[in-house]
Amino acid sequence: MTLVPRSLHGKLVAALVVLIGAIGLSYVVLALGTTRLYLEEVNQKLHRSLAANLVAENKLVSGETINHAALKQAFHNLMIVNPAIEVYLLDAEGRILTFSAPPGKVLRKRIDLDPVAAFLAGGEAFPIRGEDPRDSEGYKVFSAAPVMDGGRLAGYLYVVLGGEAYDSVVRVFQSSYILRLAAGVAAAGLILALVAGALSFIWLTRRPRRLSAAVEAFKRSDFQEPLRLKGWRPNPRGDEIDHLGLTVESMSRRMVRQIGLLRRADTARRDMVANISHDLRTPLTSLQGYLDTVLMKGGDLTREDQRRYVELALKHCHRLGQLTDELFELAKLESDKPPIQIESFSLAELAQDVAQKFRLEAEKRRISLDTEIPRDVLAVTGDIALIERVLENLIENALRYTPIGGRVCLSLVHDAGRIVARISDTGRGISREELPHIFERFYRVEKARGDASAGAGLGLAIVKRILQLHDSAIEVESEPGVGTSFRFALPVTG
Ligand code: ADP
Repeated sequence: MTLVPRSLHGKLVAALVVLIGAIGLSYVVLALGTTRLYLEEVNQKLHRSLAANLVAENKLVSGETINHAALKQAFHNLMIVNPAIEVYLLDAEGRILTFSAPPGKVLRKRIDLDPVAAFLAGGEAFPIRGEDPRDSEGYKVFSAAPVMDGGRLAGYLYVVLGGEAYDSVVRVFQSSYILRLAAGVAAAGLILALVAGALSFIWLTRRPRRLSAAVEAFKRSDFQEPLRLKGWRPNPRGDEIDHLGLTVESMSRRMVRQIGLLRRADTARRDMVANISHDLRTPLTSLQGYLDTVLMKGGDLTREDQRRYVELALKHCHRLGQLTDELFELAKLESDKPPIQIESFSLAELAQDVAQKFRLEAEKRRISLDTEIPRDVLAVTGDIALIERVLENLIENALRYTPIGGRVCLSLVHDAGRIVARISDTGRGISREELPHIFERFYRVEKARGDASAGAGLGLAIVKRILQLHDSAIEVESEPGVGTSFRFALPVTG
């Protein structure tokens, strides 16, 4: 288990607590340290001339002897004024000759005279701490003055200020109402800052929280339902989180779309493999059947039957070849680099040629194949071989799905900088439900399935793809029992 909170606002509040704690602590340490120094400075400055005054007021030393009575009187007077003050008489080397503190409490015999010299030299670097005779390790602020005896330095009067009672700064605080009040106000300020900070973090992190919840919901929906952030509108003055939200929202929409496309592509791929194998198997089985019959019954069959069986086998062979050709063609058209050569050509001539190609077939089926092509049709831009394929596929279908006595018409008309080609027939038509699907790969209208003469269902897929490569589209109108009309347009060469 970890103590670090998992939510962003939790982490921010934790960081704030640590920060404010650190600030509070350093403030306390700083306040205690400076207060102590300040008190010492004030104390020392206040009593700067205390030792000098004492020396001036009392003749403490005369010759080799100490004036004990004068000293005692001075100690006594001081004790009354300030019991925290201790007075020491030192010789010229710093040795303690006598003192005012209770006997037994003084632990040092000698005082280092360097701080005393610094004190006597003056200057502003207060507080100056000297050795505390009552503590073999400690230092305290002091006042000092040289004791002269007839022009000779007899020693120093060393007055330790503050005394025992003020060693502890904590006690200083305890004893000061003002300092306690200031510390209380500072602590309250910090707590207030902490609460305000925590509240503002909660407020500031509400959008990341919403965003996170929305992303979580998106994940739960298995990336099916795009993320929705209510009221999150594009705003030029929005901050990074606003931008992030909108970006994530549009990313989720894109992901949903892409996942859908991938799923559909996957289903289509599976269907296609199933369709291809089915379409290959059917003619293959028939082909195998006819060849087996000829082989097994060989001699028993009349020449005529033999010929018929071989012809049927050949027909299925042809169908297989056509299917593989169409598959290959579609694969090429759908590749990254489709083979397309754009040039300017006469659609009128091409339409006449293609119609001519199917004339015999139409006659055989007793269908009239007409063309309505004006004389002044302008040249168009496109791949002539691919457009020829489009016209062939459409006329082939029209002839295939139109009964005897019907009519197929190929017409061209000008329309706003384009030439519109229309292939219409008086065939069986396509029902409204089937119409949207006829351009799908392997799609065949119900009646066409099982019809040996019908194609593999790739013809219109190829047509659609070729026109797509020309930035054009194929349109269809059909009425069952009346006829069908396909239409596409190509730009006039400009
Ligand atoms: P196929 O090679 O089977 O003809 P297509 O992709 O060319 O496949 O056509 C798809 C389906 O659309 C066909 O199965 C057919 O039933 C229908 N179809 C295409 N053209 C016509 C038309 N002119 N009249 C009626 N039905 C048509």
